[in-house]
Amino acid sequence: MRNNKRTRSAGNYVAAGNYRDAEDYRRTKSTESLYFGDNNNGDNVYIARPARRKTSGNRRRSAKEAALFRRIKAVLCMVLFAFAVVICIKVVRDLGGGNAIAKEKVPDGPAAAEKSDVKVTGVQSEAAVTDTADKENDNGSVKETKAKKNKNKHKIEVIDGITYVDGILIANKTYSLPKDYNPGLDPTAEAAFEKMRLDAENDGIYLFICSGFRSYETQTDLYNGYVDYYGERTTDTFSAKPGHSEHQSGLAMDINDASDSFEGTPEAKWLAKNCTKYGFIIRYKKGKEDITGFKYEPWHIRYLGVDLAKKVEKSGLCLEEYLEITSEYADEKDNKKNND
Ligand SMILES: [Zn+2]
Repeated sequence: MRNNKRTRSAGNYVAAGNYRDAEDYRRTKSTESLYFGDNNNGDNVYIARPARRKTSGNRRRSAKEAALFRRIKAVLCMVLFAFAVVICIKVVRDLGGGNAIAKEKVPDGPAAAEKSDVKVTGVQSEAAVTDTADKENDNGSVKETKAKKNKNKHKIEVIDGITYVDGILIANKTYSLPKDYNPGLDPTAEAAFEKMRLDAENDGIYLFICSGFRSYETQTDLYNGYVDYYGERTTDTFSAKPGHSEHQSGLAMDINDASDSFEGTPEAKWLAKNCTKYGFIIRYKKGKEDITGFKYEPWHIRYLGVDLAKKVEKSGLCLEEYLEITSEYADEKDNKKNND
């Protein structure tokens, strides 16, 4: 056996380990520790063995740890960097989107400021238009007034960020309302609805407003909720981006049930047949989806006043066709390239 075990003279002390000779054993002895155990000869004796070189072991371990630490640090840095990049992209995108929403498009056309026989159809538009006519010349309290005519001689005015075409307030995909425009439901439109509601009741038809005025903030929540669920492309067919909803004008209402199941009901039929008598039109007509920018909505009515509502209805045109204006978001228009 190549064991260098030696029994100490004093008793059961055994040196265990590979020592070349007694000298070698003595040299390393100072580092030995003793323990009680089997000496491989079947005797339970005190056995000496070299003490562990703790320091070097520790050093080796910390070197390993340091390497691991460096690796963790590198991974963390990469994760942080990726996170920062994602945040930057999001911020840039949000800024871009915000601008697109806030941007106001005035259609191209010769800038002429001729007086035309402006038919005013709502209390609001009437006040605003009169205001402009009075103050256009003296550059008074009206913050911003722009008057243009589209190629078909309809007068387009932008007064304090609100667009009027021939005196009719317009909120659609092309023309937006200011974020802080908060008129509430127009009292004239509300009174007209009340009259219509009572007459309908006499015919056994029960009408109610399920959504009237909606603020920019409300529309933002509504629109974002739809986008989360349906995605932007689908949502844009039935819900306006904030600032582009006619509901923010206070002149639009959804009646009874703003869903496809309203179509064909006695209430929908009654509304389609009678609403112009009270100054309303079904705003988003069937077959006009590409022009209004929205799907057919038999429940969404827009107040125009009795005269104009009847004229528009008789023409068989949607409001965009009647006024020869577009309803397209700025980015859609860019994609289509000069469609009007
Ligand atoms: Zn609506």
